[in-house]
Amino acid sequence: MRIVRFSIYLLRLPLRHEIKHASAARSDSVNVLIACDLADGTRGWGEGVPRSYVTGETPVGVVEQLRATDLAAQWSDDCESWPDVIAMCDRFAPAAVREDPRGCYGNALRCAVELSVLDAFGQRFGEPVSRVTAHLASAANIATTLSTVRYSGAVTAASPRREATSAVKMRLYGFRDCKVKVAVGGDEAARLRRLRRWLGGRMVIRIDANEGWSADVAAKQIESLARYGIASVEQPVRHEEVDALAEIRKQVATPIMLDESLTGMQDAEQAVRTQTCDLFNIRLSKCGGYLHSLRLAAYAHQSGLGYQLGCHPGESPILSAAGRHWATTVRDVRFLEGSYDRHLLTRLLTHEDITFGYGGRAAALTRPGLGVSVDAKALRDLAEPQSVVEVL
Ligand SMILES: [Mg+2]
Repeated sequence: MRIVRFSIYLLRLPLRHEIKHASAARSDSVNVLIACDLADGTRGWGEGVPRSYVTGETPVGVVEQLRATDLAAQWSDDCESWPDVIAMCDRFAPAAVREDPRGCYGNALRCAVELSVLDAFGQRFGEPVSRVTAHLASAANIATTLSTVRYSGAVTAASPRREATSAVKMRLYGFRDCKVKVAVGGDEAARLRRLRRWLGGRMVIRIDANEGWSADVAAKQIESLARYGIASVEQPVRHEEVDALAEIRKQVATPIMLDESLTGMQDAEQAVRTQTCDLFNIRLSKCGGYLHSLRLAAYAHQSGLGYQLGCHPGESPILSAAGRHWATTVRDVRFLEGSYDRHLLTRLLTHEDITFGYGGRAAALTRPGLGVSVDAKALRDLAEPQSVVEVL
């Protein structure tokens, strides 16, 4: 079975409320949606979330890069099995349209295209995308099968009153884990003390500074918050200062997680070499898709590091579904983010609602492909008018 066409759409997804952290604020998310058509008429969907401050990609840049890429030459295999499909995905090389020293420019594009292909062939084979994990030999050390997973809540920067409401809701909703965005100004210690009170003593709290501290104050900042019980601190300093984390790590007991400084295998190897972290924040779009993300988790595991599966706020149910397939087949995922769909988006792109339930709990998806289907009317309403382009 062969691919006959890719189409690309830019979606503007309005969020229910503004999301704020140390390096950005947004009230909507512009995502890239790819449709992959097989010769038998099967259509798969994939999504990527280009964020210029992470991989340098922009929505318009993704369209340009896709158009510059020789898709016909790279996606012409006749595939009858997952290993065939994986081999074709692994050969995918988006056009080199600019300098890319970290090898991450094109990761959102890669993720969107790869997921559309996995969804299409999953439907064709009658198997869920989660099966891919067991077929990737290099991820054998992390493969497992879980029937349910638990997502984490998140408290982003807002007025003390809104933060209180949001924290109390997390607690009542039965979340086990919660991420708090820090480095947003004001008295951080007082804020975290309040949040700890509202979230309760049992909640596992981790913090994300989103590059908000300079290397010379980061250790002190982390120490001042550690007394409120912090499971890990994400990206304390800007990527440009990431090497300083090797020293900072020796000064604090709180495990350090890389996010903006972890976009792919090059970053991962550098992190292990320089000992700058204890954990990776792997996100499908940021890290270049399902397969690359599996390899990063396998590498972390083999290097004695932990990992979480994160998400980009504003992911549609397409990426939520992909994350679910990934998370239910990878073991030792320390924390899990995503599937916020109904809580965060004003409108769902799919017929299915796979938002997590009470306590952040959610079941494995078992239908063929990603297991969600795009609602044509929602797509028409959410797609940017200039965006529908056939590219193959
Ligand atoms: Mg982060």
